[in-house]
Amino acid sequence: MAFTLPDLPYAFDALEPHIDARTMEIHHGKHHNGYTNNLNNAIAGTPLENETIENILKGVSQHGPGVRNNGGGYYNHCLFWEVMSPDGGGEPSGDLAAAIDEKFGSFDDFKDAFSRAGATQFGSGWAWLLVDKSGQLAVTNTPNQDNPVMDVTNVQGTPILGMDVWEHAYYLNYQNRRADYIAAFFNVVNWQEVARRFAAAK
Ligand code: MN
Repeated sequence: MAFTLPDLPYAFDALEPHIDARTMEIHHGKHHNGYTNNLNNAIAGTPLENETIENILKGVSQHGPGVRNNGGGYYNHCLFWEVMSPDGGGEPSGDLAAAIDEKFGSFDDFKDAFSRAGATQFGSGWAWLLVDKSGQLAVTNTPNQDNPVMDVTNVQGTPILGMDVWEHAYYLNYQNRRADYIAAFFNVVNWQEVARRFAAAK
């Protein structure tokens, strides 16, 4: 069974002015679509066709770079669209807010750690907030399309928030100013969705 490109849960221009419509259109329709098609080509005729994307990524060390890069690209962007919203921004509440305060000291301290993870990822990659194997929140970054689900990653667990820091995610609007894009990203974070994923991952 082939993987399919999910529809964006909002219009291309819904995240403006923080993320521009043209970037969203190319990012979803070209980049994510490309990862999806290339993943399907990479697993065609193999037993991986019958696996969930999570199971494929958990054992990704056993597969070639086509599965790692495109499987990661498929999964990461599916998550990315959902953890953003035109109604996003602000701060989390409830259990997630308490867990962030306990782990990082405060929401602002978390924001600093997550922003630093994105800013210091050399070249292309992602910043993550995840629930690690011990059930604790953690912040990490990964190169290329790697993610914390993969068995090749230093900090493994269930990602609940991901931020794409590939240039294709921000270059049209922000050029080389990755820090400005990262600051703007916090205006569109869908904390309700992140909280839902936190509750499911614990
Ligand atoms: Mn991307």
